[in-house]
Amino acid sequence: MNGTVRTTCPYCGVGCGVLAQPDGTIKGDPAHPANRGRLCSKGSALAETLDDSERLLHPVVEGTRASWDAALNLVAMRFRETIAAHGPDSIAFYVSGQCLTEDYYVANKLMKGFIGSGNIDTNSRLCMASSVAGHIRAFGADVVPGVYEDLEEAELVVLVGSNLAWCHPVLHARLQAARSARGTRVVVVDPRGTATSESADLHLAIAPGADVALFAGLLVHLDAAAAIDRAWVAAHATGLDEALSMAQETAPDLAHVASVTGLSPAEIARFYEWFATTERTVTVYSQGVNQSSAGTDKVNAILNCHLATGRIGRPGMGPFSVTGQPNAMGGREVGGLANQLAAHMRFDRPGDLDRVRRFWNAPTLATHPGLKAVELFEAVREGRVKALWIIATNPADSMPQVARVRRALSTCPFVVVSDCWPTDTTALAHVVLPAAGWGEKDGTVTNSERRISRQRRFREPPGEARPDWWMLAEVARRMGFADAFAWNSPAAVFREHATLSGFENGGTRSFDISALAASTDAEYEALESVRWPRPAGAAGGDRLFAHGNFPTADGRARFVPTRWRPPARLPDATFPMLLNTGRMRDQWHTMTRTGRVPRLMTHVGAPTAAFSPQDAVRLDVAEGALVRLRSPHGEAVLRAAITPAQRPGEVFVPMHWTDTFAGSGPVGRLVSAATDPISGQPELKATPVRAEPVRLQ
Ligand code: SF4
Repeated sequence: MNGTVRTTCPYCGVGCGVLAQPDGTIKGDPAHPANRGRLCSKGSALAETLDDSERLLHPVVEGTRASWDAALNLVAMRFRETIAAHGPDSIAFYVSGQCLTEDYYVANKLMKGFIGSGNIDTNSRLCMASSVAGHIRAFGADVVPGVYEDLEEAELVVLVGSNLAWCHPVLHARLQAARSARGTRVVVVDPRGTATSESADLHLAIAPGADVALFAGLLVHLDAAAAIDRAWVAAHATGLDEALSMAQETAPDLAHVASVTGLSPAEIARFYEWFATTERTVTVYSQGVNQSSAGTDKVNAILNCHLATGRIGRPGMGPFSVTGQPNAMGGREVGGLANQLAAHMRFDRPGDLDRVRRFWNAPTLATHPGLKAVELFEAVREGRVKALWIIATNPADSMPQVARVRRALSTCPFVVVSDCWPTDTTALAHVVLPAAGWGEKDGTVTNSERRISRQRRFREPPGEARPDWWMLAEVARRMGFADAFAWNSPAAVFREHATLSGFENGGTRSFDISALAASTDAEYEALESVRWPRPAGAAGGDRLFAHGNFPTADGRARFVPTRWRPPARLPDATFPMLLNTGRMRDQWHTMTRTGRVPRLMTHVGAPTAAFSPQDAVRLDVAEGALVRLRSPHGEAVLRAAITPAQRPGEVFVPMHWTDTFAGSGPVGRLVSAATDPISGQPELKATPVRAEPVRLQ
């Protein structure tokens, strides 16, 4: 490195600015608005991940080193042949919130625009698809109204299904600093005691899946307490009466809410009173809400309460979905989900289809949504999808029911995987393409508060590794689409993406960054982080919905009636406990990066199954004893961890460990593939299991 390079952390959706310094060290960027110089344990250890010793260095075809030319020609030829024989829907891409927006844009354009199928989905489907669906139902578009300052300006912060202290640590540090300064109250709604709930003013250890009942009950309480802002609702929203009527049915009184949620009437009443009487209230929600067979309804039950009180679009208040991955939001902007077109345009709007078709000059544009992640791998397993390109993700470990996913990959006629390191997924690929990783390529990412930041290159990729956007464009050219994929840099891709966001927009779509469409290469290189929207010819705005205008046909938000329903499958005599999964503080996804840093392994060095003391007695297991977990989908052996933070009848296992990284193998062996019927997001936090001690002879 010749000088300090400003870039962005590749881990979570906080999107912290990072300084890569000439001496090889990494520091937080004091000038970046997301973190103001802070980094968490993972971000601080980034320099230790820059070790090329185990990287993928060359294209490999059927286990043999190949040239880029030969590998790309083969991929293009097999895709062309498959389409000719079986049609465009026989091909699929499965991509990742780790991809930069430019990678995502090219992948989406190739699949939806030129292959002509909607079959591109992303591991963000496992992360925040329910929030996307909830936003579209309530606001008319996938828009996160919140910004990080709201957490600092609030008087009450409600964290639902969010272990912010471990999963978004720098944002949690900002919240804690604000609490010290202004005494912000914090309520945590989470079945487990966590590092976040430890410091909360109120921890509601709710029964898994009961969030709709809790927030429907809150809506009923807001009405009874005359805390509904009737004037705001009359001017800016529709459907309150229907939502309220459904809430009264599903959560008629405190006793009923208590019976569903497992909480005491007193603690529910305390939460309701705090919410009703605190105007500056922010509700942050994350995977505990999204990863559920009722995830979309949970999101809308929360949004209903903010719409009812008019607490949205103003400082220190609003619902706020925080994303798990560094670029989950960027993927949503370019249509990385199978049910979206690019630039927040939609398959169900003929005008949008026509607009994208003309902009791309793509007569074969897909006209219907593609397969969502779980459906996609089922289609591979059933032989309907015959060629698959997996980019920057490891579904052989991260998907639910991984045995089925591995079976699908091992029987699929043609699997391409591009990644930085060998994984349990690359082991099942016909073609492995070495990808440039963090610090080795240029592009942009968008964090949870809609802030676009640059990731910048500051080191050479090892071996022959290349950026994903380049590989995709090369395959597109070799498939005969040279004119539409003629970019020579990520800056050129970004300009096209920004231009499309404003193409015939006229203010009808919320996502618009056309003010950046004319950026020169130098301006792109120097781009300071910026929140969208940034429409051409307008100043743009950091705060959405400030005037109560929503991107629906009539400009009003929608209340959505929500009815509580339990998880898809409940414990029974055979599988009497409920398995929950989640993150550890110092690990990331399937550990391909963090698992190689000894310092990060000192926090939690091996996976455990966490039980309540009551269950430990019932099962006759001591701390550290081996326990076998069985579910209808598989089994795993783990060491027991006994903690009062765990509710009786429930067990928690971290999501990170795999076959590569010792021990139990992926928890996805056990996890159900039940999904939310609207969002398609899998229920990763509620699988019935049986636990039994392993007695060594
Ligand atoms: Fe990276 Fe997230 Fe930690 Fe910030 S909070 S340093 S983005 S992992």
